[in-house]
Amino acid sequence: MTNDSKWLATEKRYDSGIYTKHDVVMVRGQGATVWDENGRSYIDCVAGYGVATIGHSHPDVVKAVQEQAAKLMAMPQTVPNDKRAEFLQELVGVLPQGLDRVFLCNSGTEAMEAAKKFAITGTGRSRFVAMKRGFSGRTLGALALTWEPKYREPFGDAVDNKNVTHITYGDVDALRAAVTEDVAAVILEPVQGEGGVRPASPEFMQEARRITKEKGALLILDEIQTGFCRTGKMFACEHFGVIPDGMTLAKAMAGGVPIGAFAMTGEVADRMPAGGHGTTFGGNPLSMAAGTAALRAMKREGLSEQAREKGEYMMEKLRALQSPKIREVRGLGLMIGVELKEKSAPYIHAMEHDEGVLCLAATPLVVRFLPPAVISREQIDAVVAAFGRVLDNVNPRAERQAELAAAQDDMGQAQVSQGESIQTE
Ligand SMILES: *Cc1c(COP(=O)(O)O)cnc(C)c1O
Repeated sequence: MTNDSKWLATEKRYDSGIYTKHDVVMVRGQGATVWDENGRSYIDCVAGYGVATIGHSHPDVVKAVQEQAAKLMAMPQTVPNDKRAEFLQELVGVLPQGLDRVFLCNSGTEAMEAAKKFAITGTGRSRFVAMKRGFSGRTLGALALTWEPKYREPFGDAVDNKNVTHITYGDVDALRAAVTEDVAAVILEPVQGEGGVRPASPEFMQEARRITKEKGALLILDEIQTGFCRTGKMFACEHFGVIPDGMTLAKAMAGGVPIGAFAMTGEVADRMPAGGHGTTFGGNPLSMAAGTAALRAMKREGLSEQAREKGEYMMEKLRALQSPKIREVRGLGLMIGVELKEKSAPYIHAMEHDEGVLCLAATPLVVRFLPPAVISREQIDAVVAAFGRVLDNVNPRAERQAELAAAQDDMGQAQVSQGESIQTE
């Protein structure tokens, strides 16, 4: 199953090498389907890590980008722009009540950096409380909040997390103890994504709101993955009846075009000194035009309702597989995790190679599905049927032994141990 594509070889040759590359070159997408360079189609339950919620190459976003590209692409945020004003109004229109001030940037991790800085100036404090299994991004500031040691350890002391307390997600007593008078903000995902697709309990969310208010700390929700219809509501906080003081946003917000934002209350925004933060590409007219088109399409197409219904349908079908290899099916809307009793990587690999379905890992045991909300019932049926076959047919232990045997045939007795490792995402 080697791929001798020149594009694959070239990309692997010149890329920084930090990514474990798949063995396929994707060239086109439409709705929930993507195609490789040989014309093979795949049902895409990765959707660019949850970016393509409105579907790949949504016609409204394509049109907005084409028109704006021909008109104006660069204009810094000191200079007002029609598309930026329009997007801000559209975004504030869907945000929870009170979050009516927005810092615009280009990615999720940048939104987290902004959240930290605004929380510090907004409260005059500098400690943070974050969650075990939480994921906040990869820049040094966001990384300090990210719990998983493998993301932080290669950088040692450069990741300054002395000011961060990590508590167990869902532990109200630990949260109460951690939110001391010097805490600027509690930062959490309403559904942990990277951490294994774990929805928060309503009590935890509501207590987090109550405790932060009591102690004068901010509650900042990381809705980078959960936002924009993914969980069956425009924002996941709506499931819990909780309105935060700040919210980080990115991924699906502009229908595939890079974008990020930190939305906050006027009280928080007003305490940042003028010039206290900034970014060159943030709020650029191209992503603003794409964002407005994406938000309008989400509302017009009732995308959150689609995600809710299809998510319930898909989880029901996954549970009905009743595979002995499945420990649990969980999620919210179309953010779905299937925890296996063994490593998920061989199954994810087989889904792509044998079945033409893209899905991804979330911790080594969990298979994560983040399909576009425009995925059809037929496509969901096909994904679940494929997953059932893969669970039945893939036998990682037998395959590993076959690999070992092949390696021994090839190389005499040498290098047997190499076949032992299973690659995870
Ligand atoms: C993806 C993600 C980030 C980081 O966003 P990038 O755009 O990759 O920098 C942060 N938090 C959560 C919850 C995410 O899912």
